[in-house]
Amino acid sequence: MTDGTTNRDVDVIVLGAGIVGVSTAYAARQRGLSVVVVDRREPGSETSYGNAGILSSGSILPLNQPSLWKSLPKYLTNRHQALRWDPAWAVRNAGWIARFLANATEANTRPRATALRGLSGASLKLHREWIVKAGAPERIRETGWLKAWRSDGIVAAKAEQALLAEYGIKSEVLDRQAISALEPIILPVYKVGLLHSETASVDSPGNVVKAYARMLTGSGGEIRQSDIKSIMPDGDGWRAVLSDGEIRARHIVVALGPWSADLLRPLGYRVPLATERGYHREFKPNPARPLMRPIHDAEGAFLMTSMENGIRVTSGVELTARDAPSSYSQLDAVVPLARGVVEFGEAVGEPWRGARPTLPDSLPMIGPAPRHKGLWLAFGHQHIGFTTGPATGAAIAAMIGGAPPPFDAAAFSPSRYL
Ligand SMILES: Cc1cc2nc3c(=O)[nH]c(=O)nc-3n(C[C@H](O)[C@H](O)[C@H](O)COP(=O)(O)OP(=O)(O)OC[C@H]3O[C@@H](n4cnc5c(N)ncnc54)[C@H](O)[C@@H]3O)c2cc1C
Repeated sequence: MTDGTTNRDVDVIVLGAGIVGVSTAYAARQRGLSVVVVDRREPGSETSYGNAGILSSGSILPLNQPSLWKSLPKYLTNRHQALRWDPAWAVRNAGWIARFLANATEANTRPRATALRGLSGASLKLHREWIVKAGAPERIRETGWLKAWRSDGIVAAKAEQALLAEYGIKSEVLDRQAISALEPIILPVYKVGLLHSETASVDSPGNVVKAYARMLTGSGGEIRQSDIKSIMPDGDGWRAVLSDGEIRARHIVVALGPWSADLLRPLGYRVPLATERGYHREFKPNPARPLMRPIHDAEGAFLMTSMENGIRVTSGVELTARDAPSSYSQLDAVVPLARGVVEFGEAVGEPWRGARPTLPDSLPMIGPAPRHKGLWLAFGHQHIGFTTGPATGAAIAAMIGGAPPPFDAAAFSPSRYL
């Protein structure tokens, strides 16, 4: 964009420069389309910055799966670190909650797991390819991801292993000794572990998105930093009204993560998008005692992982309005637990808050908007959007070009809700 006002010659405008938007734009460039990405911040500065950096092959069972019913009584107390909820939000969003819970059945979960397996598998392949192409191969760790139980979690670990195996995903059940051999620096607090051996992780999700963004501009894509005010049909294409001008294109992709529903409302789409908020805080590590892989404490309901700036501890889910004031009670509850597992020093920087964008079936929307030609939707990736961004982008770029996506995207069709 040179004059900051109008450009009628771009094929695709991508709204949002998180992992989903940047991936979509890069995939569109690979198909020879001209593309501009718009974001009010630098690429990878929001949800795609603050996540745990896990590139997960095995997170195919969403939160609303049958086991949720067993956990519900403890969650209803509103004291568990895994899930806190705002009663006023719950009253206002009772319909969304009912739809979310209605999906937590055996019959509804298997097809969603199959769909997410296809999306994650395709995406992991792209991440592994792109991170090398983007000149950032040192950021990816192929050391898996450890889920660990303090109590005797052997039944749960074996059940999860069997389920993953049904989807062709390898994992290893570990006892206390095997956990110590794998992760020698942690204290022996875990009795049972499940190593997701095909999962990878990165040491800075925000910088990975920035590296992909540089790869995009290197291939001729543009990135424009501006506030998006509205979008509207314009002839046989689209117009995006920005704080500093307008852009016109044949196609427009909404990849605004937790903000995606806002710009669609004036077009008549009421997207049932809620936010599962989460927090992280980073701490000075002991460089002589590095954590080798992300560890998910199953009962403590937190995750800890080595990032380039320190040990990042992330919290569970907070169900409340996207922009409600922060509440650090979940983080405050889990940081002492994390300290009991791995040695780390004082906090580095302030706590971070983000919002996982979630639809009632916990599947993202990937595909065309049902009533507007040239409008494409790519959001709602809940807990696994950092993993699934690249294949989401590849699918949208393929669909724009009239080609089949690299995985079966039928379950992600926006028309299921719109
Ligand atoms: C605590 C936590 C831990 C997580 N851990 C993992 C993990 O380990 N692995 C994993 O795969 N996923 C994880 N996730 C989920 C993952 O982070 C998200 O699903 C993913 O980042 C969503 O990406 P996105 O591109 O859709 O959204 P975002 O990264 O939020 O990008 C949306 C962009 O839109 C821009 N924007 C919004 N409105 C406007 C506007 N009006 N004008 C201009 N720009 C605008 C924002 O600035 C932002 O950059 C985690 C999430 C949280 C909260």
